[in-house]
Amino acid sequence: MPEKKIILSGMRPTGKLHLGHWAGALENWVALQNDGGYSNFHLVADYHALTTNLDSSHICDYTIDMLLDWLAAGIDPEHSPIFRQSQIKEHTELHLVFSMLITTARLERNPTLKEQVRDLNLGPISYGYLGYPVLQAADILLYKGEVVPVGEDQLSHIEITREIARDFNRQYGVVFPEPAAKLTKFSRLPGLDGKKMSKSLDNAILLSESPEDVRTKMKKAVTDPQKIRKGDPGRPDICLVFTYHQKFNQSEEQEIRKGCESGQLGCVDCKMRAAEKINQFLEPFRERRKHYEQRPDEVRKILDEGESKARAAAQKTMKEVHEAMKIG
Ligand code: SF4
Repeated sequence: MPEKKIILSGMRPTGKLHLGHWAGALENWVALQNDGGYSNFHLVADYHALTTNLDSSHICDYTIDMLLDWLAAGIDPEHSPIFRQSQIKEHTELHLVFSMLITTARLERNPTLKEQVRDLNLGPISYGYLGYPVLQAADILLYKGEVVPVGEDQLSHIEITREIARDFNRQYGVVFPEPAAKLTKFSRLPGLDGKKMSKSLDNAILLSESPEDVRTKMKKAVTDPQKIRKGDPGRPDICLVFTYHQKFNQSEEQEIRKGCESGQLGCVDCKMRAAEKINQFLEPFRERRKHYEQRPDEVRKILDEGESKARAAAQKTMKEVHEAMKIG
């Protein structure tokens, strides 16, 4: 039997997740978990959350909400330990060692950082924000992650992880693999207004949404502006509702395209058909979420067990790090 490759996946705890999180990350995580060829670790990046928001009062609640969505989406804690970064102290320890191996100039050149500073209109950034990719390198390499499922915007961070692994190995002896990024196939699902799906933009369909709310929200979705009424020919390729059909209603995609282009299909019907397919897709999520919502002790136990597995792996790596560095 070939050895399983180790995968590290993580998210910052931002509360309830939406369909954009599913399409951009979770779908891939579940597929990799079910592939059988990987050993998966799932990290709640709660320290990372502080890089853009110092208010930590919501982190616990947001962690539980996110965890419920992970479990609802099919993350199986038996195969994929789930743990909080803040509860495994080796993350901060390895972060410190790695911070000596990279220059501030290299971190300042990071294109993702430059984009975020521009897009979020950030003023002077903190030392922790600049070092975000270094903590991320520690998250990945602590578990000797060989594969990291990411979106394109994270590729530059993975490159920094690879550089740090190389530099550590050159300086002290080989301890770490150089992880490879695994890009998600369908990485962007737009929100109901056509912009990036985001709770703060109020354009998201949550994984925990009720069927009625999905229908109500879908009514607000923007469509082809040239198709005013049923009978007008539409352009599905520029319509975000069609994107939802492509994702959640592939068996009817061609029929919807023809109906839209010929004008026979009206936007109201088309939206409701998309809403029904999304509801069918979310139904098993709702059932699993309800199961765990009603059993908070079970969720607590999942975290405890995940953290104990992660801690054992992290301690083993730190021992190797200390031996390689001839300290301790
Ligand atoms: S019919 Fe459907 S695909 Fe065509 S413009 Fe309307 S909502 Fe979009």
